[in-house]
Amino acid sequence: MKATLRTEITVKQICDGFVYNELEGKGLFGLSGRLTIQPEYQRNYIYAADGGKRESAVIDSVLKGYPLGLIYFNKIPGDRFEVLDGQQRVTSIGRFVTDKFTIKDGDGNEQYFSGMPKDKRDRILTTSLLIYECEGEESEIKEWFKTINIAGVPLNEQELLNAVYSGKFVTLAKETFSNSQNSNIQKWGAYVKGTPLRQDFLACALDWVSRGNVSDYMSRHRTDANINELKTYFTSVIDWVSTVFTDVEKEMCGVEWGRLYETYHKQSYDPSKVSASLQSLYASPYVKNRKGVFEYILGGSLDTKLLDIRVFDEATKKIVYKEQSDKAKLKLISNCPHCAIGHDANKQKIWPMVDMEADHVAAWSKGGGTDIKNCQMLCKPHNRAKGNR
Ligand SMILES: [Zn+2]
Repeated sequence: MKATLRTEITVKQICDGFVYNELEGKGLFGLSGRLTIQPEYQRNYIYAADGGKRESAVIDSVLKGYPLGLIYFNKIPGDRFEVLDGQQRVTSIGRFVTDKFTIKDGDGNEQYFSGMPKDKRDRILTTSLLIYECEGEESEIKEWFKTINIAGVPLNEQELLNAVYSGKFVTLAKETFSNSQNSNIQKWGAYVKGTPLRQDFLACALDWVSRGNVSDYMSRHRTDANINELKTYFTSVIDWVSTVFTDVEKEMCGVEWGRLYETYHKQSYDPSKVSASLQSLYASPYVKNRKGVFEYILGGSLDTKLLDIRVFDEATKKIVYKEQSDKAKLKLISNCPHCAIGHDANKQKIWPMVDMEADHVAAWSKGGGTDIKNCQMLCKPHNRAKGNR
């Protein structure tokens, strides 16, 4: 790969013919039409998010003469270029000189580019950028793009994968899963964490359909002309969750629904019973992990580990230990009730406190509470053999 450093290209040249597509949230062209600012493999424009602080900061830096960092262009046939890295900065500048947003002047007033004094406008337009022009095979450039240290907001995993496997499939997938105008996004957001702009929904859909083998899946489907399987699978998971669980709770967001769908979707559930169990677990002061409630219910309300049940406190354990041990010593039996009724050498063993664990006499899952009346101390081997039941 060949890289040439260019230091003479100015903001004015870059912004000549700048077009911003509001609908797609993309800066499209510049450099008199010779520059493609957002090639297919680039992410959407995100600097306008968080109230536009980032894009204002870019203009501030230009005005103050601060360095903007390196920008990378990929040279393509016909003396044309694509922005490989720096697209967010280039789009910020383009949007500003085309009056898409304002910055605060020295007096705190909002000001558009066209309303600025001429000397300030000239200062922006004559600023030259540090640009590396790269030339090489597509695969070589993509590989390199994966490893460069990217300024500003780092690319996340899915953005990198989109770059590496760019093509028809990624373009179509982004139209559905990375498009905040998609009316389904709000419904999906109840179950999937993140934002469409940062590819979180796409990453989730790919993770589910591929059972976690995202890059393998993207590579196999790279040239597909449709995303039917991806879309159908994702929709099936969401429909299944929202049918089984009629309640929408905030802890549902970000649960591994793909895995749960694979494990449980062939079983039948009564949504009103599911809802009743869910409400009672949500009301229980003993359930520490609400995110585990859904899998607990789907699995038949057996695996209490998922709920991270609040345990007996130290004071309770000490009292119960003392009571059990005192009685056991009088009767010459083990202070572990299970050992005491056994037939081995431990029949009369008095276990030290550190070798014992607290246990629910009536199983928590069958309504036993976490209070002293329901606490017994068992030796560790017996308690562990007992498991969750
Ligand atoms: Zn025991």
